[in-house]
Amino acid sequence: MTSSVMPAAFLGHGNPMNALGHNRYTEAWRAFGEAVPRPRAILVVSAHWYINATAVTAMPRPRTIHDFYGFPDELFRVEYPAPGLPELAAEISDAVHPTWVGADADSWGIDHGTWSVLVHAFPDASIPVVQLSINADKDFAYHLELGAKLASLRQQGVLIIGSGNIVHNLGGMNWKLPDAGFDWARRFDEDAKARMADDPTEVARMDAHADFRLAVPTPDHFIPLLYLAGLAGAQGAGTNLLIDGYTYGSLSMTAYTLGMPAIAPNTPAGADEPAPADAPPDASNI
Ligand code: ZN
Repeated sequence: MTSSVMPAAFLGHGNPMNALGHNRYTEAWRAFGEAVPRPRAILVVSAHWYINATAVTAMPRPRTIHDFYGFPDELFRVEYPAPGLPELAAEISDAVHPTWVGADADSWGIDHGTWSVLVHAFPDASIPVVQLSINADKDFAYHLELGAKLASLRQQGVLIIGSGNIVHNLGGMNWKLPDAGFDWARRFDEDAKARMADDPTEVARMDAHADFRLAVPTPDHFIPLLYLAGLAGAQGAGTNLLIDGYTYGSLSMTAYTLGMPAIAPNTPAGADEPAPADAPPDASNI
């Protein structure tokens, strides 16, 4: 084990069909995975494990969860067979003490907020993956502080990734606009960008932003950002933009890294293909 501090990240995952495609976002996730030192484990805070408790997965062989419907069969066949790391649950519990964290031996696994990005960032699925739930009963300050408490894990070879979307309004999506963002989405995402560069902990106050109710109608996809912000605050550092952009008008795909140089050119041109536009209108839970 080296004494180096593992980077951390927030990745905007968007449409689960990104797992099967290649576009400038998936390319940025791949570049991120290639740039980080090989982690001992990957700890993911996914928008899609949003429950009434703080828990970590602690099974040796986490299952791949297809937690959506209305998508092609091909997406339901995706498997991400990474091992778990049950002993990490105790290390996390120690790191965040006295906050209580439950160890989940059999209920969750690896959900699509996690595997849709990891299939690109770490395609061989050989690094153990552990998920930390989002406790839906807690406020932004709790999640920011819990993120800060996880900072010591970065010295233990743990790569911490938040996976969500800073702007995520499913009701406002327009599937015909795979590469566009509405004005309010852009305003909110740009404000987050300024805060993530200067003092990331300030994103925990974005519930006062004029566009908050449109951008964050439910907090599940925003909260993973607070974990990276908490880690950045613990380090007294700003974050680097990994990639930015919008999809379907009402989602931002913006991603940030901490503790590593900027690694991907942030240019809107050169996409291999647009964000997927082929999901049916009734597709849900993305
Ligand atoms: Zn999602």
